[in-house]
Amino acid sequence: MAQGVMEQPLAEKASTTATKYVYFFGDGHADGNGKMKDVLGGKGAGLAEMTNAGLPVPPGFTIQTEACREYMRGALNPKIDEEMLVALDKLEKLQGQKLGAGDNPLLVSVRSGAKFSMPGMMDTILNLGLNDKAVEALAKRSNNPRFAYDSYRRLIQMFGDVVLDVPKKKFEHIFDAVKAKEKVKFDYELQPAALKTIIDEYKKLVKKETGKDFPQKPLEQLSAARDAVFRSWQNERAKTYRRINHIDDWLGTAVNVQAMVFGNLGENSGTGVGFTRNPATGEHVFFGEYLMNAQGEDVVSGVRTPMPISELEKAMPQVYDHLKAITWKMEKHYRDMQDFEFTIQDGKLYMLQTRNGKRTGLAAVRLAIDMVKEDLITEEEAIFRVEPNQLYDFLVPRLVEKGEKIEVLATGLPASPGAAVGQIVFTAEDAVKHHQRGDYKSIILVRGETTPEDIAGMEVASGILTSRGGMTSHAAVVTRGMGKCCVAGAGDCTVDEVKKELRVKGKTFKQGDWISLDGTTGRVIEGKLKTLPAQPDDPLLVKFMSWVDPHRKLRVRANADVPRDARQARAFGAEGIGLCRTEHMFFAEDRIEHMRAMILAHEESARREALKKLLPMQRADFEGLFKAMESLPVTIRLLDPPLHEFLPQREELLVEIQHLEDTKPRSPRLKELKTLLARVQELHEVNPMLGLRGCRLGIAFPEITEMQARAIIEAAVKVKKAGGDPHLEIMIPLIGSIEEMKNQASLVRSIAEKVFEEKGTKVDYMVGTMIELPRAALTADQIAEEAEFFSFGTNDLTQTTYGISRDDINHFLPAYLKAGIFKHDPFATLDQAGVGSLVKGATQKGRGTRPTLKVGICGEHGGDPESVKFCHKIGLNYVSCSPFRLLTARLAAAQAALEETAGAGHSMK
Ligand code: PEP
Ligand code: MG
Repeated sequence: MAQGVMEQPLAEKASTTATKYVYFFGDGHADGNGKMKDVLGGKGAGLAEMTNAGLPVPPGFTIQTEACREYMRGALNPKIDEEMLVALDKLEKLQGQKLGAGDNPLLVSVRSGAKFSMPGMMDTILNLGLNDKAVEALAKRSNNPRFAYDSYRRLIQMFGDVVLDVPKKKFEHIFDAVKAKEKVKFDYELQPAALKTIIDEYKKLVKKETGKDFPQKPLEQLSAARDAVFRSWQNERAKTYRRINHIDDWLGTAVNVQAMVFGNLGENSGTGVGFTRNPATGEHVFFGEYLMNAQGEDVVSGVRTPMPISELEKAMPQVYDHLKAITWKMEKHYRDMQDFEFTIQDGKLYMLQTRNGKRTGLAAVRLAIDMVKEDLITEEEAIFRVEPNQLYDFLVPRLVEKGEKIEVLATGLPASPGAAVGQIVFTAEDAVKHHQRGDYKSIILVRGETTPEDIAGMEVASGILTSRGGMTSHAAVVTRGMGKCCVAGAGDCTVDEVKKELRVKGKTFKQGDWISLDGTTGRVIEGKLKTLPAQPDDPLLVKFMSWVDPHRKLRVRANADVPRDARQARAFGAEGIGLCRTEHMFFAEDRIEHMRAMILAHEESARREALKKLLPMQRADFEGLFKAMESLPVTIRLLDPPLHEFLPQREELLVEIQHLEDTKPRSPRLKELKTLLARVQELHEVNPMLGLRGCRLGIAFPEITEMQARAIIEAAVKVKKAGGDPHLEIMIPLIGSIEEMKNQASLVRSIAEKVFEEKGTKVDYMVGTMIELPRAALTADQIAEEAEFFSFGTNDLTQTTYGISRDDINHFLPAYLKAGIFKHDPFATLDQAGVGSLVKGATQKGRGTRPTLKVGICGEHGGDPESVKFCHKIGLNYVSCSPFRLLTARLAAAQAALEETAGAGHSMK
């Protein structure tokens, strides 16, 4: 089979003798229209639509996708050439120019354009039509020989690379050699004579590599470029992109041939970019910048400083009015803010592109509200104009980057959004110390990874940076709960906690040095940037959310452990607490000592003694939570993590013991430490996440469950007696079998009965479980006999279904994302096919046994828009996420419900 020829399934061979291959657009009329993406590709359909809407788009024609399919089949219809010549003739007449000929030669661009955007995957050729003669004409007409020769050398290079397969490196080699000889630093410093030398060398290279001269005939250039674009549909990167994005290989690409217009043909020409409204704030002001006698790249490269678009009003009032009128017309047409590019050639305005503009979250909300007021869109449509994650912009501070020099030191995982700027410390103790002394105004805690012991330091820090750990690592989960910025797993950073140094990019940062974190993108930036504060009470946000909530079917709850977080959660719209991780309560300074005493005890009686001390503290915690949540449901999970997490780390103990042995061998502390070490070693597990944790703790040490159940029930009774209305749900973690569930549920219920009897008052409560092991999901019908509710712990369920450690995924995640094995981090966005099908199946099984079973999700996926939409689809009752993700979850849930009722009509895309 010839190169590039593919076998296509017979059923799909569609072309007929009536097939129209070439679609013209220009002068206010296009053969095609905006709906014909299958035929014209996205770009071609857009050009047709813009032309039909009366926009001054540089004219041209689109060769439709069927031609590409024919090319792949190795049978290009000769009609294509015929139609192309007719279209070219029309184009030349319209422009009053001839392709690559005469005093004012027509030049064209040749670009790919598939139905689905495949940015940068296929090839483009600019300035096509230039040859040895046309370049002289262009030099004369533009009065700018440097520009003309540069355009020509670019054409030979692009054409040589894309069409003739001459290695790009060989062109670059020639170019760099001339630059070195001329002793210039920037490309634009090369003078015409040097550019001419480059052109000669390029042509020689083409001859040497292909055995033929660079084609001087414009038509020959055109057909060869068209075929090269068809070929580029089958290049490796395009194929990979299609595989990852599930795009059919047989769609093919269209080819767009369009007249080139130049903004650098003198003082009456120019080029610019703009937005119909301010994309940062959403304000209704025409916004943009431009440069006269310049090309597009001059505006964006920063070589020359562009002028604000308001200046154009003075310089060329007619062009300005025209530009304003048509961009607003486009805004009305697309019913959205437009981002546009324009060129003025000899005083005539051309629109090169207009599309829906990217915007910040603040702008997205303002635009959505304003456009409803302006009758451009409906309230329901407005709900789709904001991406759920954009709502973070209101809740967390943001970095001010405009006008700043940004030195990105590393990029880690965007573990918790927002920004933090502060001085580095390397231990939680240092964080607390400097915070208390007030010598550091803002602190960034930098750790290899955080452990529950770091909690006090995390509390006082503005942001956290870790070099290890994934999206559900301790640092990530805790900071998200606190609404604090975190960059996790920044693997390029070496954190030396002993020397107290952060080493990255050949630089060393010490305690007290300033860095800035962007938890939304995962960037670690050198120095002290400014930040913009959070605006959670913005009236626009409040109004927007009032439109959102009535559509939602899913309830939203928060993962919150302390009354402060619970109050924060309610302010962000929580309708309950879906997960209170009780272990977090044991790390407070006044408790860890009793917790350790409990763990160190070998006898049950000693354990009970220690637990007795913890009981009143836990009871007070729960009382606070019930009060903060009033009559909203509160799900409290019994102790879950392996016990050794509450003890000092083995390595730290060894170092301290060694130190004491060397310095104070008789110290009583030494004996204490040795006992501690012995217990740490006893508790040491090879796979602690699969070890003595979750319900296994409560089964091995029932007194722990007893104490916690008592604290919960006593607190509820107390609050009820004081006139409150607590709704409690007691949750058993890491259940794998009905037997485990029965064991723990009956223990909880027996304690509850005892407390009711002792106190003479009853409260309603439920006992349920987390489903976070595949076995629990697979036997959910049995477990539901005992469990009154299910909450999917999708962090552990992802870990145990995939067999991937949630704390170590970042060791290979980048490779998996790059290879297209993962589309997302499965700990951030639910794996619907695998983990999701367990969630769905277990929900069905559970409800089969107990039709009223309340089902929710409390893993980190509960705050991820795509995962929330999945939860809606499979009929869960609620999602629970950290307080700062509540707005996102609310919006995603409303969008999911609307998408369902309105079919495919609603979408962000
Ligand atoms: C989970 O596993 O999804 C969960 C919520 O529990 P944790 O993150 O505390 O293990
Ligand atoms: Mg879990």
